[in-house]
Amino acid sequence: MSATGTLYIVSAPSGAGKTSLVKALVDAQPQVRVSVSHTTRAMRPGEVDGVNYHFVTREDFLERLERNEFLEHAEVFGNLYGTSQRWLEQTLEEGYDLILEIDWQGAQQVRRLMPQARSIFILPPTQDALRQRLTNRGQDSDEIIERRMREAVSEMSHYVEYDYLVINDDFAHALADLQAIFRANQLRQATQQQRYGSLLSQLLA
Ligand code: 5GP
Repeated sequence: MSATGTLYIVSAPSGAGKTSLVKALVDAQPQVRVSVSHTTRAMRPGEVDGVNYHFVTREDFLERLERNEFLEHAEVFGNLYGTSQRWLEQTLEEGYDLILEIDWQGAQQVRRLMPQARSIFILPPTQDALRQRLTNRGQDSDEIIERRMREAVSEMSHYVEYDYLVINDDFAHALADLQAIFRANQLRQATQQQRYGSLLSQLLA
């Protein structure tokens, strides 16, 4: 791989199915990677440190922030989240497409710093479906679920800031939509020019 990879921002309200969709996309596309954020949130059952997140203390997070280690950071539901800048730059330089699963606040910061980033917002089909998915997780209390429902509506109001909208009514359909966005971007003229430099030289000789 010689071309620089494309940076994608993927946002969604909690429970819209973002993480499962992104995992399915990445599993099928070896040239796409997902950034592992740092967070001060407590680990949920089934989560693995270094895989889902780098779980750190608030003190550790604030030290990293002071050292300018984060490209962007935000406080969500009372916890701090941030994207490591060094790993991001290295991965893009190696030619991988990179996905940031971040909230709208982080998305705004990344768009300012890297305007070439493509952004995708994933929506649930209905509010009821969202509540159902939050309840089915079985990991959060009723109070947290209600708070997350309110936060979800506020998060969804930012959809207008994104390049693409995907509605996750049917998983396979939403995955196909995501794959289409990635495929179309891989076929952009500037990207193809980098990938097929020698072919183009031969064709135009
Ligand atoms: P959760 O705790 O449910 O995994 O994530 C809560 C919210 O934080 C989600 O909207 C998720 O996209 C967002 N988030 C996760 N990592 C980051 C990050 O590195 N930066 C920002 N700005 N948001 C993040």
